[in-house]
Parts: sequence; C-alpha cells; structure tokens
Amino acid sequence: MMLSKLPSVGTTIFTRMSQLAMETGALNLSQGFPDFDGPLALREAVSRHIAAGANQYAPMAGLPALREQVAAKVARSYGRVVSADSEVTITPGATQAIFCAVQALIHPGDEVIVFDPCYDSYEPAVELAGGRCVHVPLAFPGFAIDWQRLLDALSSKTRLIILNSPHNPSGALICRAELDRLAELIRGRDIYLISDEVYEHLVFDGSQHASILTHEELYARAFVVSSFGKTYHVTGWKTGYVVAPPALTAELRKVHQYVSFCAVTPLQWALADYMAEHPEHVAALPAFYQAKRDLFCDLLADSRFSFTRTAGSFFQLVDYSAIRPDLDDLAMAQWLTREQGVAAIPISVFYQQPPQGLRLLRFCFAKREETLRQAAAKLCVI
Ligand code: GLN
Repeated sequence: MMLSKLPSVGTTIFTRMSQLAMETGALNLSQGFPDFDGPLALREAVSRHIAAGANQYAPMAGLPALREQVAAKVARSYGRVVSADSEVTITPGATQAIFCAVQALIHPGDEVIVFDPCYDSYEPAVELAGGRCVHVPLAFPGFAIDWQRLLDALSSKTRLIILNSPHNPSGALICRAELDRLAELIRGRDIYLISDEVYEHLVFDGSQHASILTHEELYARAFVVSSFGKTYHVTGWKTGYVVAPPALTAELRKVHQYVSFCAVTPLQWALADYMAEHPEHVAALPAFYQAKRDLFCDLLADSRFSFTRTAGSFFQLVDYSAIRPDLDDLAMAQWLTREQGVAAIPISVFYQQPPQGLRLLRFCFAKREETLRQAAAKLCVI
C-alpha cells in the first residue's frame, strides 16, 4: 500500500519562492502578503484582549460579537440579511474554511470543477475527500469562464464547483451576468458552490464585486469564503469566515469542529472591536490598493514587461516574452529572483495543463511605496 495520500503534492510554490527570496536577499513580490502592518488600533486590541484574559477557547462557530460584525458587513456590502447564529462561521483562515467545506460535501467518486489557473489548496482538499477535480481552463489570456468547456465538464458526478473572484493569480472578476448564466447552467442539478472571495474588497476602476451573496438562487447552494487576513493586512493571523445557508453551515461546522474546533480567541475579539469601530476601513480598500497597482504599473511602463492592469486582487500579471522568451515561467521566476533581485510567482503551477508558450509571472503589489519603487527600478533595467 502506498504511504502517501497525496503522491503528486510537493512544497507549495509560495514557500519555495519566499525561501529563495530570503536566501538570495531578493525583494519578495512572490507570496501574497503585505510588507506593511495592519491598523495599529487592531493590533493593540489583540494585546488588550490577551492582557484582559481572552485566552481560552472561543465558541466553536466563532465569537458571537465577530459573527454579528460579519453579518452587518454582509448586509452593508451586499444587501443580504444573514443570521450571525446559523449562517456565519469563523474559521482559522480561508484555507481551513475551504478544506472543511470540501470535506463536508464531497463523497468518494464525486467530481469537483475547478477553473485553471486554480489556487493550490483546492485539489488536495478534494483528493483527501476521495473526490476528483475536473479542470476547466479559463479563457486565455482574459481569464474569463469558457462556458462551452464548463458545460462539457459537467457530468452526473459533478457535486461542486469552486469559484474564485477576484481571481488569484489573474485578478479577473466574475460579473453579475456570469452569475446568472451559472445559475441557469446548474439549475435543477444537485451541484453546490464554494465561492472563494478572499479578495472581495480589492476591486478596481469603479467595478463592483459580484458576490454570490448578492445572488439569491446561487447563495442557496453556496459556501462563501473570505479572509480577514487580506481585508485587514494581517495574513499571518490566519482568520477567516464562511457565510452559508443554515443547512450547509450545519454540515460545515460538523467538520470544522474536528479539524480545529475554533479560531484564535483574542484575534476574534480584536477583529470584532475594530470592525465595530472602523466600518470605513473596508470602503477605503479599493482606492488604497488601486493606488499601489497604479504606482507599480506606472513604474513598469518603462520596462520590457507587457501587461494589462489587474481588475482586482493584489496581484499583477506581466508577460516577459520580450525579455527571456527562452525561459519557461518557473525558470524565469528563479532567474529573476537570483540574478535580478525580485521574486515572483510562475503561474503554470496552477494549471493541470498550462497553455502553450505561457510567459507570465505574478507580482504581489501589496507592498510599501519604497518596496515597489525598488522592485520597479530593478525590473526596468532588464
Ligand atoms: N494566497 C497567497 C498567494 O497567493 C499565499 C498563501 C500561502 O502561502 N499559502 O500568494
């Protein structure tokens, strides 16, 4: 009997590239995390709650105060009234939330549709549940859903579709009309959705994020996942949440209670306080990150990279075929890190079958102005 249940899984590209950046002293624009801190008031609230004794287990589903804040935000942002009690669950990160939702839904032999390039945690979660991922490539190079391919991928075994908008790594957005089209496609079928919306507030140029929470019909069969890590610049806190209808939430919690039981208590208190006191934080995020995107893109205008400004997320894809067409993207990311001092993420690793001649890298622009300027200066001389 083979030991490994995940024989084709190695160490993630995020760990590998961050490690290479550290070893070589390169500026790290690879793994997605800010190089600045979350709000001081939020960080101070954690210390305050730890000092005040909030150091034991939180309720399994999450602190009621934080669940109330999430429900209030969902109402403000998406106009949906959800029950903090039966539809919101706080989890130790979005990754854990997605894992639990997959385990809750997938039986051996079930098929799960994922869109390539696809975030790396989805497939191992499906495989550990005994399911199989059916990979549907997004249209290239625009990264929109290819409806014919999606239709072709549906089968009587399809149990789940995993959506991700704003999309990592491309930043592409799913729009309202696409949600309607999806609803039409799966109407009458026993198919559920996980909607990975961790970049829900990072949407630019006046676009609106089309959350599944705004869609009555799709929400009825969905787990909507988000991450406080992205929204409050604290990825290391690994705290996220799931909003799902009561029957789905009940199934999710059955798994969550045995994977982790609960999320970290003082972090939940601090987030609840901060959300109550600073509802404006969320509204300011698009402009905050759009300014970083624009600074980075303006600085890269003098380089030999070509790109279209990202529509969402804190990632910018760039095409390097005018610079080193001889290198595949993994080799290019390593060369750029070792020889030019800027680390990036290759995107072929997020495909079952990368498009022919793919010459794209992903940069994370969740960085201080100084970091972006230093990185761009290096990128403009190659
Ligand atoms: N989601 C982050 C990224 O895309 C990385 C998270 C991780 O390292 N697992 O870069």
